[in-house]
Amino acid sequence: MSLREQLCAYGRRAVELGLVIGTSGNLSVREGDRVSVTPSGVALDRLTPESCPVVDLDGHLLEGDAQPSSETPMHLAIYRTTDARAVVHTHSVFGAVVATTKTELPPIHYNALMLGGVVKVAEYATYGTDELAASVRAALEGKRAALMANHGGVTIGATLEEAFEATRLLEWLCEVYVRALGVGEPAVLTDAQLAAVVERALNPPEFPRR
Ligand SMILES: [Zn+2]
Repeated sequence: MSLREQLCAYGRRAVELGLVIGTSGNLSVREGDRVSVTPSGVALDRLTPESCPVVDLDGHLLEGDAQPSSETPMHLAIYRTTDARAVVHTHSVFGAVVATTKTELPPIHYNALMLGGVVKVAEYATYGTDELAASVRAALEGKRAALMANHGGVTIGATLEEAFEATRLLEWLCEVYVRALGVGEPAVLTDAQLAAVVERALNPPEFPRR
């Protein structure tokens, strides 16, 4: 599957899973110094490969007639400063709830380690601006996910599949957190408990054969 075909496939999946509504949300994938990105103003389940523009890392249009997503400056800022090869941005419900009410998503489940532990909420700035790109980049430092105040969430990965799965995990963690807050005070895992999880993952038990 070409990179632009991947954008179409994961765009459809994002709509199916209810991670985006209307023409919100955008995805991109990088190969060398070329970034294929979803176009502006098109619902993610209505993309065609040809409708997805290709830009360079400075935002110059290289291929395609459509305008790149308005959030392209954020995607490019992430590519210029991390080793990410794909970026997924959505307005998923529980991510938006946490990003509207909290300053971070604490590690209430050990799977948060897959996103880098605590997920920070990037300071609010108008969509599409360099200010928003800068605040998201800062929140992403050393992480695979960030929430965006009063907006949504963003995840990165070595592939589009990885970035997309990180978005699903981020939304799941946010949903667990929000639902837990409705029941009581969620317990937050300690640094020692998280370190023990890493230790366990690095040294899985061996099951001897009979
Ligand atoms: Zn957005």
